[in-house]
Amino acid sequence: MRNITGSREAIAASPYVVPEAIQAQCPDKWHEIFGNDRPLHIEIGMGKGKFIHTMAKEHPNINYVGIEKYSSVLLRAIQKMEAEELPNLKFLRMEAENITNVFGAGEVERIYLNFSDPWPKDRHAKRRLPSREFLARYDVILKEGGRLEFKTDNRGLFDFAVEELEPAGWKAEAVTYDLHSDEKMMRGNVMTEYEERFSAMGNPICKYVISR
Ligand code: SAH
Repeated sequence: MRNITGSREAIAASPYVVPEAIQAQCPDKWHEIFGNDRPLHIEIGMGKGKFIHTMAKEHPNINYVGIEKYSSVLLRAIQKMEAEELPNLKFLRMEAENITNVFGAGEVERIYLNFSDPWPKDRHAKRRLPSREFLARYDVILKEGGRLEFKTDNRGLFDFAVEELEPAGWKAEAVTYDLHSDEKMMRGNVMTEYEERFSAMGNPICKYVISR
């Protein structure tokens, strides 16, 4: 995506974004950051933030953190907050590889991955957000009994993600290869930007819910 002039500056000045300079102080401090003891749910690779903003609005008793690596994209999520401010949503501009530096052990109750980049080349498998390498990082920050939910229309990426579960020590609680026709798994479903785009093109959406 093109770089939007001044997006880094706008992010640095935004009250909704935890400044990069204090990210290292965040582990085990999210209850203080939000000023309450509510459960913490995060989305990794949130893009423009439609999903997490809607979730935060629908679930005021949950604290949400949206993570995005690109300033130009994060800026769109900030603009949604400026249009409709929510007290239970914060953002982090960071590379997900460093996720264990910002959340303490067992601090997160739920992780959402939505339409993660496929990294189709075999040698880039480690960069895929549902890879065993990333599952090992989520294992650290996810509370006992916590779960991870992943949606994508990319069947190759989804098949890979399902195959990673057993070697990584995770188990599927629910799996569908056509979410929008699955009445049970559709309950409470909030569409992401990519989900709207790809399902409108006729692509079925795959989803799993996993735990350890
Ligand atoms: N979740 C949104 C956006 C999907 S596109 C939706 O479903 O509509 C994937 C997004 O994840 C992009 O904005 C990309 O910049 C971000 N992303 C991909 N890999 C990342 C990583 N390693 N760390 C942080 N963000 C990442």
